[in-house]
Amino acid sequence: MKVAILSRNKKLYSTRRLKEAGEALGHEVDIIDTLHCYMDITSNRPVVRYKGAELPQYDAVIPRIGASISFYGTAVVRQFEMTGAFCVNESVAISRSRDKLRSMQLLSRKGIGLPRTGFANRPDNIKDLIKNVGGAPCVIKLLEGTQGIGVVLAETTKTAEAIVEAFMGLNADILIQEFIKEAGGADIRCFVVGDRVVAAMKRQGAEGEFRSNLHRGGSAVLIKLTPEERATAVSAANIMGLNVCGVDLLRAERGPVVMEVNSSPGLEGIEAATKKDVATLIFKHIEKYAKTS
Ligand code: ADP
Ligand code: GLU
Repeated sequence: MKVAILSRNKKLYSTRRLKEAGEALGHEVDIIDTLHCYMDITSNRPVVRYKGAELPQYDAVIPRIGASISFYGTAVVRQFEMTGAFCVNESVAISRSRDKLRSMQLLSRKGIGLPRTGFANRPDNIKDLIKNVGGAPCVIKLLEGTQGIGVVLAETTKTAEAIVEAFMGLNADILIQEFIKEAGGADIRCFVVGDRVVAAMKRQGAEGEFRSNLHRGGSAVLIKLTPEERATAVSAANIMGLNVCGVDLLRAERGPVVMEVNSSPGLEGIEAATKKDVATLIFKHIEKYAKTS
């Protein structure tokens, strides 16, 4: 098959591994810089142009669209969909997952376990917003944050109010959440391919840190999931319409709660922690579902 990996950087671990795994299985794999693609949308024959020429017909496309280029990136993915290529994650599903609030609204409607969450921009009653998620301690997050930045634990109601006021001053959209203390500063990354969790790791925050992000000094180890955790991760991926994704869970007393569904999950951490060949499993999925031209 002819497969394109949409990635801004061919040196990234995930990009390199996917190319290597695809080639080892006998596929022709090109790495295409998403932002360098341009499209002629007036023609009735949809094409993607790149470096002065029309790109060939690909059987499958693996989108690795960073959050900072969601808008243009999903437009490029959509254009590849128009050409008939099988896109591992569809553009609508990627857009959907990029909106944290929209994702949580969809997951909650389908009964997926979630932390009690409030959403606000300029709440006229901050006390009520905090009370609604069970009061302090609670977690306040900037909707636009990544890698744990803009995620704050407020130990008291007074602090929570002060933080909400500060974020309001920045005119930011915020999420306020029940603090899942029993998670103990750890979260679980479930790597879903198709309708299966193919690898799972526990990320533990550094000593004294409630955020488990690897960028915040956390460490990752292989973990065995409960059947309920597996089922939750697979359902969350399904609801979001993502074939390949990372579902982040917290272990709450009442069962697994979903924090986030990531449509371009990194391979480096999960492959290192679990010793699983996730890249090959992604290609196995493509082989099963892409129609060869
Ligand atoms: P980001 O998307 O920036 O990584 P997250 O919302 O995933 O932000 O939060 C970062 C980390 O903080 C999570 O991985 C988790 O370890 C911890 N955390 C976030 N929200 C909660 C919560 N409500 N209760 C307990 N821990 C939390
Ligand atoms: N490296 C990111 C972190 O700090 C995780 C990457 C991902 O979301 O897959 O947690």
